[in-house]
Amino acid sequence: MNYYSLNNKSNKVSFQEAVIQGLAPDNGLYFPETITQLPQSFFDEIENLSNEEIAFEAIKQFVGNEIPETGLKKIVSETLSFDFPLVKIEENVYSLELFHGPTMAFKDVGARFMSRCLAYFNKDKNQKNTVLVATSGDTGGAVASGFLNVKGVEVVILYPSGKVSDIQERQLTTLGQNVTALEVDGVFDDCQDMVKKAFNDANLKHKNLTSANSINIARWLPQMFYFFFAYKELKKFNKPILVSCPSGNFGNICAGIIAKKLGLPLAHFVASTNENDTVPRFLENGIYNPKPSVATISNAMDVGNPSNFIRIQELYNNDLEAFKKDFSSYSFSDEETKFIIKNIYINSGYVAEPHGAIGYLGLKKELQNYNDVIGFFLETAHPIKFLDVVEPFLNIKLEIPKQIESVLNKEKISIKIKTYDDLKDNLMIL
Ligand SMILES: *Cc1c(COP(=O)(O)O)cnc(C)c1O
Repeated sequence: MNYYSLNNKSNKVSFQEAVIQGLAPDNGLYFPETITQLPQSFFDEIENLSNEEIAFEAIKQFVGNEIPETGLKKIVSETLSFDFPLVKIEENVYSLELFHGPTMAFKDVGARFMSRCLAYFNKDKNQKNTVLVATSGDTGGAVASGFLNVKGVEVVILYPSGKVSDIQERQLTTLGQNVTALEVDGVFDDCQDMVKKAFNDANLKHKNLTSANSINIARWLPQMFYFFFAYKELKKFNKPILVSCPSGNFGNICAGIIAKKLGLPLAHFVASTNENDTVPRFLENGIYNPKPSVATISNAMDVGNPSNFIRIQELYNNDLEAFKKDFSSYSFSDEETKFIIKNIYINSGYVAEPHGAIGYLGLKKELQNYNDVIGFFLETAHPIKFLDVVEPFLNIKLEIPKQIESVLNKEKISIKIKTYDDLKDNLMIL
């Protein structure tokens, strides 16, 4: 399978090259050259298939013959080594829990898939790749865990000192091995700027730098699996299905649209955002006008200019009317988010965290437009990660899950840096 750059369609590369490069040399995002619908028989029988079988069928055309069937099956199976429960919240409203992986973030799936693809491509080579990421929270932990001890890969994570939660910091700084945590004296944007500079630095070419955020096709595409898993459970109700994704960089929801292109019968998508409302404003007035991000309690979605939105526009050939038929987008404030977390808990006993709660709000808003449909939202993180919001507010004490407990007593190891030259020095000695 070939991928073209969204900056210039004649710049094409293989799956392997797209994964290794992350971003195209012309700075465009890669996009699959073809998307072929899956046979009807697959959807007719989906309830008899395991998650691994479903995921393999969904992803195989995007990998093509660059990883043989047995290799790809192994990668998929290792990627999906945990559960994806669909929990009923109220009549016709379900939560798809994506937080049962090793770092309790949905990003575990993409990180695990991508790391294993890179390991496959490196298996007979002496070459090394360096995965370089800036994180404001969850990406770093998922990438650190997903790439731990993967052959031929060094992982370097930049995070803003004092600006990530204690649990998140421990997830990035306690693994050691091939994972280096750089603690930046600055804010997230400073980390992001340094990473961008490194990707464009000719003196670092030999380090084979790649990204591990949803820009990378191997981090982005596996996210389509969740939508198939939810459909498998909801199919029996025989109703149109709505899905709401709490959205930041819009990678998750864009993967859901790919699933629909493959034939998955999803009736409508809702992109639910916090006050970073670039896409809801675009749907209202047709003008794409990104703004600097503002800080909210759903901080993994504090994105002013969602990087995957250009892929969504490509999927709809930039046709705003066609896009609006499939897609709505709503923005919610911190006050509304807190209020609904309490409300969900009182009415159903379910503990939602801020991102999932925004997903719930968007779903409920869209459901008002229909009769007799069913919907689910993505619950993208475990509430323990946002315990400073959830615990005092609901007046409850959350049990610490075993994945989190295992990092609490480990020693933090990070290297403090301040400037781009500090980053470069650290990359040079790897
Ligand atoms: C990354 C993240 C999101 C946003 O996902 P996108 O694919 O960037 O839209 C939502 N919730 C949580 C908890 C996240 O970590």
